[in-house]
Amino acid sequence: MKGAIFLDRDGVINCTVKVSDGIYDSPQTVETVRLVKGIENIIGWANRMGIKVVEISNQPGVAKGKMTMITSGKIENKVDALLANKNVRIDNKYICFHHPKGIVPELAIDCQCRKPKPGLLIQAARELAIDLKKSVFLGDRDWDVLAGKAVGCKTLLFLFNDDSPEKIKFALASPADYKVGSLDEALVVIKRLFTK
Ligand SMILES: [Mg+2]
Ligand SMILES: [Zn+2]
Repeated sequence: MKGAIFLDRDGVINCTVKVSDGIYDSPQTVETVRLVKGIENIIGWANRMGIKVVEISNQPGVAKGKMTMITSGKIENKVDALLANKNVRIDNKYICFHHPKGIVPELAIDCQCRKPKPGLLIQAARELAIDLKKSVFLGDRDWDVLAGKAVGCKTLLFLFNDDSPEKIKFALASPADYKVGSLDEALVVIKRLFTK
């Protein structure tokens, strides 16, 4: 079995959106979706190497009543379209739509898939025959690192300064195997991990 590259979405594949001073959120509309600089190089390298790229994302916006499932789907499609413009592709997506304090009853559950729980990674590994110990999880939050660590993935934390101070502080304290300041730097680490 082969390893895969697991990618968090918001803050790694697409940029977060500034709501007000120091407050950032995932994009709530199709128009605000932008790719993070350099993500196409990581996904493109994996595509050429035959390494699966799997998005692992918490999207509680629908559960919280911030958007409809239709809007959420359109945002996913926009991410895919922007990547297709760069001739790269995500192979599979695993998304948790739950939130324990949600207002949509069927999504307001304490599930096993919301990161930091590793449920989505376990499901992906089973369904796609992925060796988690040979895999890498690239995220921008401590819950990405914790989910990856729980199942033996190598964890990369992408830190960037254009974000809320408290988020950067939390992220810095997380037990990631590698902390990188750019996706170019992340690609160097990923190449080393997959070719050694
Ligand atoms: Mg994120
Ligand atoms: Zn869930």
